[in-house]
Amino acid sequence: MNEIKRIAVLTSGGDAPGMNAAIRAVVRSGISRGLEVFGVIRGYEGLIGNEIKQLLSADVSNIIQTGGTILKTARSEEFMTAAGRLKAFENLKNQDIEGLIVIGGDGSFAGASQFAIEHNFPVVGIPGTIDNDLYGTDYTIGYDTALNTVVDAVDKIRDTASSHNRIFFVEVMGREAGFIALRSGIASGAEAILIPEVEGQLKKLMKTMAGRGKIKKSSIIIVAEGEREASIWEMADLVRKEIPGSDIRVSILGHIQRGGRPTAYDRVSASRMGIAATEALISHQYNVMIGLVNNKISLVPLSQTIKMHKEVNRDLLAIVDLLT
Ligand code: ATP
Repeated sequence: MNEIKRIAVLTSGGDAPGMNAAIRAVVRSGISRGLEVFGVIRGYEGLIGNEIKQLLSADVSNIIQTGGTILKTARSEEFMTAAGRLKAFENLKNQDIEGLIVIGGDGSFAGASQFAIEHNFPVVGIPGTIDNDLYGTDYTIGYDTALNTVVDAVDKIRDTASSHNRIFFVEVMGREAGFIALRSGIASGAEAILIPEVEGQLKKLMKTMAGRGKIKKSSIIIVAEGEREASIWEMADLVRKEIPGSDIRVSILGHIQRGGRPTAYDRVSASRMGIAATEALISHQYNVMIGLVNNKISLVPLSQTIKMHKEVNRDLLAIVDLLT
């Protein structure tokens, strides 16, 4: 097998804090192993548009502490087509790039896997998404920072909730998954958590609130964005009717959850994953995602991480019932 000499790295899908630490690790570990490393600007869009530039060690100075991604990110309709992926392949080939590291979520990996199969091109994925919804890894880059951001915001909201005897419904990110809601809810002492993976929670919430109305005046209810039983506004209305005279507010945390300085945990994990991705390419272990399982680096076939669904830890829900 030929020795790999030139590799490229890109970020794709939603940005996540810690992506920069992963880029830095890929660049520096690659250079120290004698590779030339290239950065692709704007994800698959930049790959198709040939926005590829060499990255030197100095190009990744002072980025480990920053959120977002220095390579920028994008969603690309064109990469969903065979013609778009062919353009991307030709751009890599023309620059003699022999391996690609994709930092992103499940959509990015679906694209990466398709591309790898179609063009027999070595690809390695690094899980970079605040949602933590990828099968084959306990943890994705950005999740820890997002959790801490949510907990910080909810702590602040609780000051107001308890000062005014209010009930706050707080919506957190997670279109398909309740990982952020579940852990941030436990960490902030939420009275209830509603996530898309669990049914029948609205009924339970109504029962809890009916009982609590008389005992406790303020409450925090965390709702994942993807919750399907009712919208957060409908839930607030239902509880308002259930507890006449209650002061109920809705707060949607939105994009503050994506940004900010990555936590130490995100920086360290992203660094470990970046190095592992470079090593995987060097050792010809292709079309895999780098995972962290029980705090150890693992390699999972991309095909598996795309196909399989990561379950939330339902034991954690029991904690909420027990402790509130
Ligand atoms: P996040 O979890 O933050 O949303 P993601 O990687 O899942 O990140 P997506 O928007 O789903 O984000 O996907 C990113 C890009 O990956 C898409 O814009 C598209 O270019 C590419 N992609 C997604 N699915 C496919 C697919 N089935 N085939 C080819 N390319 C795909």
